[in-house]
Parts: sequence; structure tokens; C-alpha cells
Amino acid sequence: DVTIQGVSKSFGPLKVLDDVSLSLSAGSVTVILGQSGSGKSTLLRSINHLERVDDGFIAIDGQLIGYRQEGETLYELKEMDILKRRVEIGMVFQNFNLFPHLSVLENIIEAPVTVRGVSREQAETEARELLARVGLADKAEAYPRQLSGGQQQRVAIARALALKPKVLLFDEPTSALDPELVGEVLSVIKELSSSGTTLIIVTHEIGFAREVADQVVFMEQGRILETGTPHKVFNRPDHPRTAEFLAKVL
Ligand code: ATP
Ligand code: MG
Repeated sequence: DVTIQGVSKSFGPLKVLDDVSLSLSAGSVTVILGQSGSGKSTLLRSINHLERVDDGFIAIDGQLIGYRQEGETLYELKEMDILKRRVEIGMVFQNFNLFPHLSVLENIIEAPVTVRGVSREQAETEARELLARVGLADKAEAYPRQLSGGQQQRVAIARALALKPKVLLFDEPTSALDPELVGEVLSVIKELSSSGTTLIIVTHEIGFAREVADQVVFMEQGRILETGTPHKVFNRPDHPRTAEFLAKVL
């Protein structure tokens, strides 16, 4: 499970996350919606401890992210321990972020070999399985520049999965793609939704959210205004701001 409890975060005077609490059961799919600047990426980055929160805590299966607790006090973990813990949390970005000088296969095995200490041979076998799973079995030797955006994003998903994360975070995974390439990436994510990995997805793809999400979260100005099933949030939102937002994106 993922527990986010009373998380706040400011950049200077700007409060970007304001007392955010959310719980996600293991294997569930949560879609986060909200206007530009509402704090969605900051929330994802906090789950990954790429951002240090000012208040509150985030835990995965009862283990704090980025901190250890002694009595009442939280101590930030050392960089090495943060990195070890981060292996449990994969992240897929809007712009794919593949290593341009590495082949598809090398992109995928890099972290398992260097971070997890998996043998090259085993990492390669697993990478080929993952590539088949995202429909790119024939692209192992290609370089990122030789792939379409949708293919690059599917490689990025395979790369994240190679670390066998408990939680996979997607930050607008299809918003940099040409419209005709969106579907292939969403269908890979949909495929993952029943794999047992907990998924947290920032996206404006409402149709996808309706179909795949267990939980939809609407954020505004760093706060969660509304949480519920897609049916509830899309058909009968409690908050007028949610309805206004949906009217714009639908
Ligand atoms: P978008 O839909 O445009 O991606 P978002 O909901 O992901 O928006 P965030 O990127 O989380 O929003 O940003 C929330 C607010 O925090 C914005 O006002 C942004 O300018 C500000 N912000 C984010 N990162 C930093 C930073 N490193 N330093 C200062 N301000 C920041
Ligand atoms: Mg963002």
C-alpha cells in the first residue's frame, strides 16, 4: 500500500502541496487530474523523494520514503539508502528520458545491472521479455532516435519495469506524443493495471481514466479537492471546481 499523510511542500513563499493525504491499496490504479501548476508533478516527485517534503510523510508498505523514524523523530536517510529505496518506485516521464547513446536493450539493463547487481545475462533475458510485453521485441538493438515517440515511451516503461517496482509513477506519459501514438502507450499502461504493480498516473486522458482507474484524484492549488471512483468523479463530482475542470478537458 501507499500512504500519503498530511504532506505539505513549499517553494519559497509558494505552497505547492497543502496537507495532502491519500491512500492507495497495493495493485490499484490512481489517476491524478488538475490544472497546470496544481502540484501534480511535485506530488509524484515527493513520492519518489526527488522532492523533500516539509511536513507529513509518505510510506510504501509501512516503510517511510526517504526517512527513518526513531521515537517521534524522522531522520532523512543517507543518499545511498534513498537510492536503494527508490528502486521500489519507478517513474515514467513526459519526455521519455532515455539515454540517447545507449541501445534500447542497454537502456533497459543499465539500472538492473548497476543498481540491483543483476548479472548482465539475466538482465538481458528479462529485458527481452519486457520488450516483448510492450510490443517491441524487434527493437532491442535500435537507438532511441530511431524510434517513434510512442515506441520510446514504451521502452521507458519497460526500463521502469526492469527494476520490478512496487509502485510506478507516470507523469503525463502521453502528452508529448502525436495523437495517433497515444493509444499504443495507454494500452501498455492498461495492460500493467492488472499486474499487481500500484500505478499512479497524471494524465488528462479522461476516457482512459474512466476505463482503468480505481480512484480519481482532483487537485487544485496543492490541495486534493476530490477523490472517488471514476464513475463518481466524472458523473457526479462533489466539488464545482471539479466539474468546471472536467468541462474543459472532456
Ligand atoms: P503541469 O500540469 O503544468 O505539469 P503540475 O500540476 O505538475 O503542473 P507542479 O509542476 O507540481 O505542477 O508545480 C506546482 C507549482 O510549483 C507551480 O507553481 C510551479 O511553478 C512550482 N514549482 C515546481 N517546481 C518548482 C521548483 N523547483 N522551484 C520553484 N517552484 C517550483
Ligand atoms: Mg506536471
